[in-house]
Amino acid sequence: MTVVPKKTEAAKPASSVNSGYWSYSRLSMFRDCERQFYYKYVLGLPYPTNHSMRVGKIFHRAIELMIREGYSSSEALYFSIGEQEGLPEGEKTYYLLGMLNKAFDRIPKMDYLEISSELDLSIKTTKGVIKFIIDLVIDDPANDVTYLWDFKTSWTSFSAETHIQLPFYGWLYKQYRGYVGSTFKGRLVFPRLDKSEDNEVLLTDEKLAKAKLWLIQTITLIEAKNPDDQEDWKMAKDRSKCDYCPYVARCAGGLLAGLSSTGEPRNLQEAEKIGEYLLSQELALKNMKSGFKKWVEENQSVHVGTGVWLIEQKPSAKCEDVEALIDFAQRNGLDLKKALNPKPAILAEWLLEDETGELEQLISYSNGRKSFKYVK
Ligand code: SF4
Repeated sequence: MTVVPKKTEAAKPASSVNSGYWSYSRLSMFRDCERQFYYKYVLGLPYPTNHSMRVGKIFHRAIELMIREGYSSSEALYFSIGEQEGLPEGEKTYYLLGMLNKAFDRIPKMDYLEISSELDLSIKTTKGVIKFIIDLVIDDPANDVTYLWDFKTSWTSFSAETHIQLPFYGWLYKQYRGYVGSTFKGRLVFPRLDKSEDNEVLLTDEKLAKAKLWLIQTITLIEAKNPDDQEDWKMAKDRSKCDYCPYVARCAGGLLAGLSSTGEPRNLQEAEKIGEYLLSQELALKNMKSGFKKWVEENQSVHVGTGVWLIEQKPSAKCEDVEALIDFAQRNGLDLKKALNPKPAILAEWLLEDETGELEQLISYSNGRKSFKYVK
């Protein structure tokens, strides 16, 4: 549901560096890595959706369809996968179905509860327009409680108590709506994990005030940055943030400036910079290889120098019952030596030629793993 922005305070221009509005993801990106924010929102470089972002989108759309439209989990999932143009590599539909069912089962079903899902809201503040999406709002008028739920599709859980996102949404939601229950709670729900990993935080006035301060301070910090000077935007201190960053090649290139080309540092400070450069290069190569592989897979092999980058897929065929295979070979005039030591390529060939259907019972066959390589 998209709701018309609600004005809570006098509106002012949002910022010289953003594109008209703020959101939790924008502000937390700046807090995690100023340089990433600069690349995405100041330079406007593309930020391709990664695996976990796509899974999150598929899941959130599907659970919305289940709650709002009454779709079954499989209807909702296939609809959502279609909208997202397929499932990311390595994800399984049965696993996502399990997540959806688990998440849906965790939603309380009492008739007196008022439940709204995927609320797409925005409000105007003195710091500009803030957009936010709340996965689930559960109002319990009987007990005067308001819950905000946020679904997390991560593989590990974390504490709602120390995560600023729920108080951030809590403060905005209270501004937007004007009232909440006398008990106001936020809950993180982890449908990949056991229900015991879900956890909540009491959204006290103190917590909401802290979140408001975080919002104001973060926007003020961004507004104080120089959009014309890249060096004014610091790179992430915590380099685990770089693991899935699409800008890692840019950062790796920039780190090379001024370093000794022999790789031999002149002092400890330079040694640390070289170490940092090498780590960034490794990540950059990993990212580039994965993007390049996807392109080759979807388009064609690429000739470079005397070789070619290509996708190789070797079918795999196995026979557990060699005695039965020998018997089959004898009856059908096949090479017995080959039956005694059955190689996958021979098994695949015999399987293809067999019109009796007998070998289908003896041989297990799969297309095999795809490997991406440079072949000279
Ligand atoms: S690679 Fe790391 S330092 Fe560079 S923009 Fe991305 S997160 Fe920031």
